[in-house]
Amino acid sequence: MFDIFKSRRRARLRAQPVPAAWRAILERNLPVFSRLSAADQAELLGHTQVFLAEKQFEGAGGLDLTDEIRVTIAGQACLLLLHRETDYYPELISIIVYPSGYTAHEDRHIGGGIWEEGGEDRLGHTGKRLGALVLAWDAVRHGASEPNDGENLVLHEFAHQLDFENQISDGTPALDTRGDYLAWARVMSAEFNALRNASDAGQPTLLDQYGSTNPAEFFAVITEAFFERPRALKRKHPALFTQLQRFYKQDPTTYSVEQAVAT
Ligand SMILES: [Zn+2]
Repeated sequence: MFDIFKSRRRARLRAQPVPAAWRAILERNLPVFSRLSAADQAELLGHTQVFLAEKQFEGAGGLDLTDEIRVTIAGQACLLLLHRETDYYPELISIIVYPSGYTAHEDRHIGGGIWEEGGEDRLGHTGKRLGALVLAWDAVRHGASEPNDGENLVLHEFAHQLDFENQISDGTPALDTRGDYLAWARVMSAEFNALRNASDAGQPTLLDQYGSTNPAEFFAVITEAFFERPRALKRKHPALFTQLQRFYKQDPTTYSVEQAVAT
């Protein structure tokens, strides 16, 4: 299905010895890394080699890029690729990293032929036709170091990239079969509506209520919860958990550092 030369080049990259410093960065900055099986650690490091060889990183706002920044971002992005046939975020060319939150300047259509100039404070952003993903380094580092608060900027933005793989950004990533799409649609529409209703009613929820914005944000938010609060998600939203477990082909309850919290 993928280009044979690309596949061979990637296989060679995955087989290269991993710099010891990279493994040390993941052990230090991603608490879940050390809890993965040896096979999964090796797979993650292999994906990280391909990712870092293929994607361009750019420092913005005066940030000097380091291996620590590149590897911390790549390691989290590649956690979403474990056990899956992957084309390594094919829409994505470059990752732009700011030292901290930045102000996005873009023109936004607000209806009736009126365009509003942006100036929105952001920690991260990506878009279907952008070819780029923007991240604030301090938020990346914080998200990685708190692996059980349900919030992770890198997982959120890269989930959007997965959503783009089947052409439209609609909260449904590329699934294997028509039956998978039907099951996904049934579960996700019910869960999305439930979150929206809870948000309207002012009720607290396990899922970040930002997910009720639209189905694309819903997918990004449930991805954060799946990796960071898997036990709570499985308990409170078992059907949702099952859909994500099928898609991501892994079970984060086996390695999560999530505390047993009563939610
Ligand atoms: Zn988002």
